[in-house]
Amino acid sequence: MVNFVCVGCRENERIPLSVVRDFDDMDAGDREVPLQFVCEACGSGMYPEYYKGIHGYEFRIEDRLGART
Ligand SMILES: [Zn+2]
Repeated sequence: MVNFVCVGCRENERIPLSVVRDFDDMDAGDREVPLQFVCEACGSGMYPEYYKGIHGYEFRIEDRLGART
């Protein structure tokens, strides 16, 4: 499972890794942009707390949260 965190309200949601990888695979042309879901509570983007993409990039939620402060 991959833990996704909302940048708006910090809501957490666990997404099965197989689902995340399917999305990642479809998004192959835009590999620098992290996977994103929309928070059902506040409508902000939800990003993976930590995720290493199938194309090799790594993403950490700290990077995204830090950029907003
Ligand atoms: Zn939210």
